[in-house]
This record gives sequence, C-alpha cells and structure tokens, in this order.
Amino acid sequence: MSVDKKGWNEVYIQHLKENIRDVKDFPKPGILFKDITPLLKNPDTLHITSRLLAKPFMNKNAELIVGLESRGFLFGPTIAMRLHAGFVPIRKPNKLPAKTVSATYQLEYGEDKVEIHADSIIEGSRVIIHDDLIATGGTAAAATELVEKLGGEVVGYSFLIELKALEGRKKLKQDVECFSLMTF
Ligand code: AMP
Repeated sequence: MSVDKKGWNEVYIQHLKENIRDVKDFPKPGILFKDITPLLKNPDTLHITSRLLAKPFMNKNAELIVGLESRGFLFGPTIAMRLHAGFVPIRKPNKLPAKTVSATYQLEYGEDKVEIHADSIIEGSRVIIHDDLIATGGTAAAATELVEKLGGEVVGYSFLIELKALEGRKKLKQDVECFSLMTF
C-alpha cells in the first residue's frame, strides 16, 4: 500500500477517533461527553497522540506549555517534554498552594473561575495553551487572559478534540495558531 505522509496522518487520526468514547448525559443531561480514557489506556494511541500533538509546534520556540485542569494535565507535560519546554498548570479555585492570579468566564448558566500561580510565567515567555477539548472556548480564553496578565505571549493553542459546531476558536486570539488533532 502506498500512503504518503498526509495519508498516514489521516489513518492515525481515524484510529484515534475510534478510541474516543461518547458518553451520553454526562456530567449532566444533554451533554455528550467525549471520553478520552480508551485512547489513554492503549499504548499505541497514547504514543501517537503525544507525538502528533507536539509536531505542529516544533519550530515555535515555546518555553512553556500551560495545561488546563484536569485533562489538560495528561498530555500537557508530554508535549512540554517533546518541545523541551516547561509545564504550568491552570487550576480551579483554591487548588494551587502559593499566590495566584485568577480569571472568571461565563458558562451557559453562571460563571466559573480559573487560577495560575502568580510567579509561574517570566515576562515575555512564549506559551502554548493546551487542553483535551475545546467546546465554547471560554476556558481557553480565560487561560489566555491569565497568561497575558503575567506577561506571557500566547504563541499557540493545542487541543486533542475540537467540537467544531460550537465555534470556540472564535474566542481565541485570531493571529495565533490553533491546532486540534481531532474534530467532531
Ligand atoms: P469550553 O470552555 O466550553 O471550551 O469547555 C472546555 C472544557 O470543558 C475542557 O476543559 C473540557 O475538558 C470540558 N468539556 C466541555 N465539553 C466537553 C465534552 N463534550 N466532553 C468532554 N469534555 C468537555
């Protein structure tokens, strides 16, 4: 079989998509939850995902990967190691032990808040924001606000999964590369 590089990527991505499990009505009615645990437990899909997530950012000279709680902590550090960058967590309120900076963002009903350690980004650092999934884009937009509050420069967005119909990427910086490995 002759398959060029693009061809193999498509084969890989199709295989990865088959390892995402849809769970209806989780965590609440009306949500179709994209469960990545089947992809994590399979050594091949785990390895391919880690490699394909890092690939688009090889030449971005990123110094930090900022990962979003909690599933952004799974591949954030593997991307960081492949890019020889550091990893910084953004967490839900009152989880980080030292001094924090916070940002609030709107949910369908009400609002939510995320925090980052105030000393986690050196001014001028080149940062990639990573999460498992982008839906409405509110979480990644709040992460952008935190990185910029600390003087970091967002040079990329990275997601395993993008829910295209929700157009979350419109909330992100338009001049920055936004990569999603799988779209649904
Ligand atoms: P949003 O801020 O709307 O882009 O939501 C993204 C965050 O919510 C990510 O941290 C995801 O892990 C989580 N999330 C939202 N929708 C889903 C979904 N359908 N399946 C799994 N996780 C989701």
